[in-house]
Amino acid sequence: MSYFRPSVDAMTGYQPGEQPAPGVKVIKLNTNENPYPPSEAALQVLRGFDGELLRRYPHPMADSFRDAASQVLGVPHDWILAGNGSDDILNLLVRACTEGDRKIVYPTPTYVLYETLAEIQDTKVVEVPYNDDYNLPVEQLIEANGAITFIASPNSPSGTLVPLDVLSKLASHLSGVLAIDEAYVDFADYSALELVKEHNNVIVLRTFSKGYSLAGLRLGFGVANPELLSGLIKVKDSYNVDAVACAVGAAAIADQAHKNASAERVKASRAKLTADLTQLGFKVGPSQANFVLAQAPNNKAGALYQALKERGILVRYFKQPRLDDKLRITVGTEEQNQALISALTELLA
Ligand SMILES: *Cc1c(COP(=O)(O)O)cnc(C)c1O
Repeated sequence: MSYFRPSVDAMTGYQPGEQPAPGVKVIKLNTNENPYPPSEAALQVLRGFDGELLRRYPHPMADSFRDAASQVLGVPHDWILAGNGSDDILNLLVRACTEGDRKIVYPTPTYVLYETLAEIQDTKVVEVPYNDDYNLPVEQLIEANGAITFIASPNSPSGTLVPLDVLSKLASHLSGVLAIDEAYVDFADYSALELVKEHNNVIVLRTFSKGYSLAGLRLGFGVANPELLSGLIKVKDSYNVDAVACAVGAAAIADQAHKNASAERVKASRAKLTADLTQLGFKVGPSQANFVLAQAPNNKAGALYQALKERGILVRYFKQPRLDDKLRITVGTEEQNQALISALTELLA
């Protein structure tokens, strides 16, 4: 006799990338955090935060954050739903839209949390494999017609971006929700945000964890028409964004100059890292995100992952078909990337 539902007993649970204890000296290139500090304007809001605001409950819809986001994005504030990270919005979508045969559909490989959320909800999943060039398998996704179709664009772990006309075609043929997960959009050439105005069934998800260097704050949001958001609002925790995240996030999104400058640095380093890895014999796909997916020479990915870890350099290794010959490496500072390249040079010698 178990305490848990059979579906919970059967699942393994999401495995986050390792998070070393504070103060432990590692080069952390495994969970796609931004290597540069957050906006100084956002940090000032944090330092000056009024304790009185912690005594009270926060605004249920994080309104001051929504107002700031609305200014930057050019959408009305009731088209924005803030969450405790974009994972919160993913969770709300799954709980509000799916159960049993109301299935979840996504191309693979992709963000593993989609599968975990489906397992928790006891929802059927249809996984459609990407081909080796990571072109979106549109026809099969349309055919599967999920209650939700999740597309990460840029995708993790491939770093690939889906063209807007392809996403638009997909949206027009689906009767369910198309959730476009733009966690990495700050490092990409374009966004799908405009599609929320053209398609009632599209929601675009954003996070502060990557581009804004605020993974520890836990703030993300979804953009969609108010009718699509209404079902998610019924399901959410009454106070799903805390007062600190609301205030700091408002200042962070207002400081686009800081975010854009840090994204430019990451993109320049991404190009250099790609070139250096290629020089060492890795096959590196083009990336629109703050990481690269690199196929290791001589099928050595697993061994290199271990050996790097022993040297205090963490990268991500997925022990699964199609990925177990590759490493997903977050773009770090120039110094961190150089340390990685030096270590790999020694290990491959
Ligand atoms: C990092 C990531 C998220 C999670 O973002 P949080 O806002 O930190 O919850 C969502 N989707 C993808 C594809 C990610 O890589």
